[in-house]
Amino acid sequence: MDKKWQTHLTDAQKHVCVDGGTEYPFTGEYNDFFESGDYYCVCCNALLFKSEDKFQSGCGWPAFSFSEKESIRYLRDSSHGMERIEVRCKQCDAHLGHVFNDGPPPTGTRYCINSVCLDFKAK
Ligand SMILES: [Zn+2]
Repeated sequence: MDKKWQTHLTDAQKHVCVDGGTEYPFTGEYNDFFESGDYYCVCCNALLFKSEDKFQSGCGWPAFSFSEKESIRYLRDSSHGMERIEVRCKQCDAHLGHVFNDGPPPTGTRYCINSVCLDFKAK
């Protein structure tokens, strides 16, 4: 991830966005948060998710069933003995979380995203 996007990040944000870490479940600011608005990349301010697509997954992290068009980059992640799909911000390459195929209809998609990667702006 380009240094120019990292200057304003906190240590917790760097741990996740830059180093690919994961925040502790049920601790994130947006885990249990359902206000109406948009979620932007905390690093580069790209629009990533909308509150209409957020749902309560019970997994401990913010979950979305849909992402903004062309906002996400997908990478195969074989770390920790699992086959997962990592999701990153397409614009700045920040690690955001992972995507799974056990979400609600109609997409069946569950984006499992770290709160620290997101910047919420109310409508
Ligand atoms: Zn970004």
